[in-house]
Amino acid sequence: MTQALLLENGTVIDGLGSAPYPASVLIEDDLIVAVGPEAAQRTAHLQNAKRLDVGGMTVMPGLIDAHCHLSFDDAASNPEIFYQRRNALSALVAAHNARKLLRAGVTGVLDPDSTFENMIDLRDAIEARVTEGPRMACGCYALITGVGGTAGRLINDTGVTGYYKVVGGRDEIIAEVRRQVKLGADWIKVHVSGVVPRQARLGEQCSWTQEELDLICSVAHDLGVPVMGHCRGAVSTYRAAKAGMDLIFHATGMDERGLELVIERKIAVCPAFTFQANLVDYGDRLGTDPALLKLFEREIADSVETMRRLHQAGVPLLTGSEAGFSMVPYGEWHYREMEVFMRYYGMTALEAIRCATSAGALALKMQGQTGAVTPGMKADLICVDGDPSRDIGLLGEPGRIRHVFVDGRAMDISPPPQRKPLPGWRLPSMGRQLTREFALTGRSPAAVEQEQIAEL
Ligand SMILES: [Zn+2]
Repeated sequence: MTQALLLENGTVIDGLGSAPYPASVLIEDDLIVAVGPEAAQRTAHLQNAKRLDVGGMTVMPGLIDAHCHLSFDDAASNPEIFYQRRNALSALVAAHNARKLLRAGVTGVLDPDSTFENMIDLRDAIEARVTEGPRMACGCYALITGVGGTAGRLINDTGVTGYYKVVGGRDEIIAEVRRQVKLGADWIKVHVSGVVPRQARLGEQCSWTQEELDLICSVAHDLGVPVMGHCRGAVSTYRAAKAGMDLIFHATGMDERGLELVIERKIAVCPAFTFQANLVDYGDRLGTDPALLKLFEREIADSVETMRRLHQAGVPLLTGSEAGFSMVPYGEWHYREMEVFMRYYGMTALEAIRCATSAGALALKMQGQTGAVTPGMKADLICVDGDPSRDIGLLGEPGRIRHVFVDGRAMDISPPPQRKPLPGWRLPSMGRQLTREFALTGRSPAAVEQEQIAEL
């Protein structure tokens, strides 16, 4: 029998950019079937339809986080992810964390790469309703060359380290892409750029040839699987675009030819700047090295013009939180990329919401099926106390997300049980450097340096 639910007296933000308007929304099973006066009319003819008064609330598509690593568990460093984790336990912990996303209004998530490739298992468990979580799409190991990724010499020369896998040569590339497809990858993830420690001053460098990237794309596309690339620097973005990648993460440092190609092919871009924005805004509270803060601030500032041009040219910009690291804990910052888009790229709140909803459906490979409040769409919805188009920050306030539906089913958004520490899970840190000055006076080396500058 059809399950029907009428969300009545609310205000709708459709996720397509329209201004908010008062309307009721009728859900039947997993679909939105009517919005506006028709919703109530149709409900009158239904037996056993339930009604939910959402007066004072905004009914909008749930957020789609296009870049979130559920298996990393708020790690403070790569060594923690690479060397402290176990397969089954990290999948169980990820299931716990997935519920935090639901409570934050996230109904869809793309997990690009995971330890032990175990987010394939979490996705399948969520789909089979073994556990509750957002609708998920995921990749397996991120492909890298022997040059490495963003963790320098921590990465083994061959094989798997954490969420990375080194591949080399035509046969190995073909075999690995096919293996991931067989395992169940929704996307193939490629770390197109990486840092060479000895050449760190150059920033991330492209570590693949054009032919290699072309090969990955042709093998994956042949099997109907899209490809996403982590790209920092002009060469990596250009080569990724030329190879036919379907989604580009970060995309900083693009040059004119890369920009033109991304625009021509309308390749979706997910900057995932929440990580950097959090450091820039709050890093001083965390004692982050000021030089590092400057670097992140520059990374955002340098890409403002590019991102604006991409947006104006109609390239889909997706919102990604990079949650999985301690800088962006699960459940806290998923809305924040919208704030970044507004502050730095000059978007309106409704444009930013469109990026996080209907445009984000691409990350789930469900364009035109979810991410909008229109008849025929999947009922992946949230009800928010207040109007996020006036204040996007509402979406981050505890208690504002009142109802969350995935596939038309109300999700449990009661607080998850408080966790206790897992033995051997975190990488112990001895804390900051104990100079004699700091030990005896409590003044940090940075403070001493500042005083010396002031005295000059
Ligand atoms: Zn990431």
